Amino acid sequence: MDKVVIITGASRGIGAASAKLLAQQDYKVCINYLKNDEIAHCLCDEINQTGGRAMVFKADVSQEAEVKAMFSAVKAEFGSITHLVNNVGVLFTKTSCTEISAERFMRVMQANVLSAFLCSKAFIEQHQGYGAIVNVSSAAARTGAPFEYVDYAASKGAMDSLTKGLSLELAPHNIRVNAVRPGFIETDIHADGGEPGRVQRLSSQIPLQRGGTAEEVAQSISWLLSDAASYVTGSFIDVAGGK
Ligand code: NAP
Repeated sequence: MDKVVIITGASRGIGAASAKLLAQQDYKVCINYLKNDEIAHCLCDEINQTGGRAMVFKADVSQEAEVKAMFSAVKAEFGSITHLVNNVGVLFTKTSCTEISAERFMRVMQANVLSAFLCSKAFIEQHQGYGAIVNVSSAAARTGAPFEYVDYAASKGAMDSLTKGLSLELAPHNIRVNAVRPGFIETDIHADGGEPGRVQRLSSQIPLQRGGTAEEVAQSISWLLSDAASYVTGSFIDVAGGK
């Protein structure tokens, strides 16, 4: 069976690094994104021009109709979807908990958790008796991210619970569900929090004394998706330099 993977939020950062790596490993890759057409298409062209197979699909994965449309389009183009990486994650300006509005809290939960739930559901509805899902959680699920973004941390805690629950429900269907928990990784997400140089500033607090790269996280995602991890489900890999 062909390996077909949807990676949500794959136009940049950890999702893009995963798209490139999985394409090299003979997956047909759907690069999902929300806004930035140019970099998503550029990545897709790069993969297709270097011997891989990729397509792009612009969709807000926190909206069920858009998720369903994406799964239909990918199935029509590549066949049944065998693998899923729930990678989308957003955060907003660093602030204390009392400054976080109910509206912001819900936006974070919808983008980070509801999206993973909706994509997992769409994945399950079309599976062929085999598959693997990797959820991209965060070390923030363990630390709580106080004075920065407790909303984001709470969403990642929910991702961990979702991972566990789905892994147990889907094990009898031969679908494995695992998660990675990145620490401080050099991507553009930190600029969204208001501090592009955050990883650099905090690197001395990381036992390995440096931030991680998107490529290092992609390696763990790829392993969890692969048959090399065939007896691994409901598990978490911290990719956080010991933090
Ligand atoms: P990033 O560079 O900010 O990229 C985010 C991606 O998500 C972009 O491709 C963006 O597309 C897309 N996106 C955002 N909202 C979307 C939506 N509703 N529907 C579809 N696509 C959407 O992120 P990253 O740093 O690589 O993080 C990837 C994952 O790792 C996230 O879950 C994050 O929480 C987690 N993580 C990251 C770190 C870190 O230090 N970087 C640490 C721990 C965990 P557009 O650009 O088109 O909007």
